[in-house]
This record gives sequence, structure tokens and C-alpha cells, in this order.
Amino acid sequence: MTEFQLRKRQDPTAPALRQAVLENPGFGEYFSDHMSHVRYTQDQGWHAHEVIPYGPLTLDPAAAVLHYAQEVFEGLKAYRHADGSVWTFRPERNAARINRSAERLALPQLDEADFLESIRALVSLDRDWVPTPADSADEVSLYLRPFMIASESFLGVRASHEVDYYVIASPAGAYFSGGIKPVSIWLTEKVKRSGQGGTGFAKCGGNYAASLAASAEAADSGCQQVMFTDAATSTYLEELGGMNLMLVTKDGELLTPPVSEAILDGVTRRSLLELAPQLGLTPVERPIEVAEWRDRAASGEIVEAFACGTAAVITPIGQLKSKDYTIDMGEEPGEATMKLRSTLLDIQYGRAEGPEGWMVKLAES
Ligand SMILES: *Cc1c(COP(=O)(O)O)cnc(C)c1O
Repeated sequence: MTEFQLRKRQDPTAPALRQAVLENPGFGEYFSDHMSHVRYTQDQGWHAHEVIPYGPLTLDPAAAVLHYAQEVFEGLKAYRHADGSVWTFRPERNAARINRSAERLALPQLDEADFLESIRALVSLDRDWVPTPADSADEVSLYLRPFMIASESFLGVRASHEVDYYVIASPAGAYFSGGIKPVSIWLTEKVKRSGQGGTGFAKCGGNYAASLAASAEAADSGCQQVMFTDAATSTYLEELGGMNLMLVTKDGELLTPPVSEAILDGVTRRSLLELAPQLGLTPVERPIEVAEWRDRAASGEIVEAFACGTAAVITPIGQLKSKDYTIDMGEEPGEATMKLRSTLLDIQYGRAEGPEGWMVKLAES
């Protein structure tokens, strides 16, 4: 692991202003005072590990990322526990995943210990930016966004010889203001986010860019999220643009499509599958046809549906709408859905003991 040099901001945010932000942070709108940075060049490899003042980047207009989207990112959170200490959740999974994503996007591998230190050094310096939950319903955190960009100025098409890695931090409020309400999901038929051999399993900006047109389609149909099916046959459920899908059956199966080249291996998804048995649920990973959801929801065998990911934890799904039909899952979040949600949150906020090694301490109070 390489030590990160600290270069502190001379004009840090005034405590009163920071407090005002932390009281109503929203999501992804405000950023802490610093950011981590590591530089990569072909000659030197990764070097110049530092935590520096948060601020705009200087990029040459010919920087490869701006033209060819050679970029990957991650998303995880820092949680403040009751004793004031700050923790994160299974960060080694994000460290491994950014390297799987980087490999696919022809970006260099980052040492996993350096990934962890880039987060620890930043959160430790900016720990006053981690909101303190008022009670167990207060799902506040410091959202961490590591990302890696191709920064070489060169318009030829090949992997960049210069890369920069950063971590920025953004205080986040409860994703759902005013209680957890099931959302409507739009089943898109035309637009695909990934396919066999594509980049669906990688966390890269390009996948998100490719999904935005479908989000507009969803909004036009009164839906908040998009459900994608497989590119080859449009038969199988894959995932939402940024969250994995789970279904619950009447006899206690927690059903989800297996991860593949097209489906991202979510840390939340995997953790819920691992927690399922202790809640009396049987985790089942197998291909699921859209028709199975429709038929078995109609017959009362599929009783709950939700989306899961770090940002919103678990989002209950009330409806799946397509141009031809609507699958109705009810207006209230399901019982298993809410049980899984509180079990995970209790571990993340330190109110319950999780499996060994899931929580990693980043800073004392
Ligand atoms: C980040 C992401 C998820 C959720 O992953 P988590 O590790 O649970 O946050 C799911 N799908 C896509 C496409 C994503 O980018």
C-alpha cells in the first residue's frame, strides 16, 4: 500500500455551511472539501498518490475520455455509527470490481490496497462530512465515487497511455424522502444496455449513456426506472439501469437472474443473497423470463419485487409496465422486501452484527 500525501484546502467550508448541507444533502449535489487522486503513466505506472482540495479538473480537450468514453467508476458509502466512528461496507468487492471493469475498458489495474487507502485517507480527512443519522429511519451517509479516466490527449483510437484515478465524496440523504413507496418500472423493448461480449458487467459511464434514452421513454410512461431484457431475444429479465432485480415467491424463494457478461455483479445483490437464509428465504439464481414474472404474479406465486443497489439500498417495485400490459405488485412494499432492507441497513449502520469482515472502519469519530 502506498501512503497518500495530504494537501489540505486553505479555505475549508465553514462549519455552519457544512452543517446546513448535511441537514438536507439530497443526492450527489454537494461535495466534501477534498478528493483523492492517483496518476498513471506508461513509464511510471501508478504514482503521486495524494489527497488534494476538491475542485475542477484541467483536461486537454483532446483527452481520450471525452471522445471515446474510456472510463470506469465505483459507488460505495461511508456510514456513521452510534459511537461516532465511520465505516464502509465490503469495500474489497468494489476494489475487485473496478479492476474487472478496468480490464474490460483497457485501463490499468489499481492495487486493491491503494483503492482502500484512497477511500480511507479521504474519509479520514473529511470525516466531518459524514452525516450523523438522527434515528434508525434516517438513512444518511457519505456517498463515495471512485473513478478512473483516460486523460491522454490523443485522438487516435487505442488505449490511453495516461490515466487519472480520483475519489470524490458527496453527503447523501435518505433516497426516499417521505417514506418508502414502491416505484413503477418501464420494460423497454427497443433499447438495450448491453449484450453478449459487451460491457454490461463493467461499471462504466458508457453503459449509463446507453440507457438514458430508455429513461426518457420511462418518464413519458410515468415510470421512474427502466427494466432491461436480454439483447438477443428480449425474453429474459436482466437488470435496471443501475440496480439489480429481485423477486420473492410465495414459498420463500429470493429469485434473481445470474450475473453474466450483461448483468452487473452488485454488492447489494450478493449481500442480500447471502443474508437470505437467516431470514427464512432461499436464494435462487437462474434465468427468469419476463413471461414467468407476469404469469406467476397473476397466479399469486410471485408476491414481491424490488430493485437493489448501494445508492437506494432496496427499492420496492409496485408495477412493471410495458406497452402491452402492466404487472401489478401492489402499492405497499412487501414484507420480505422490508425485512431484507432493515437487516442490511442494521449491519451497515452498526446496529447489528453482520458476517465477519463485512464492515471496515475508515475513521474514529
Ligand atoms: C452499480 C450498479 C448496480 C448495483 O451494484 P451495487 O454494488 O449493489 O451498488 C447494479 N447495476 C448496475 C448497472 C450498476 O452500475
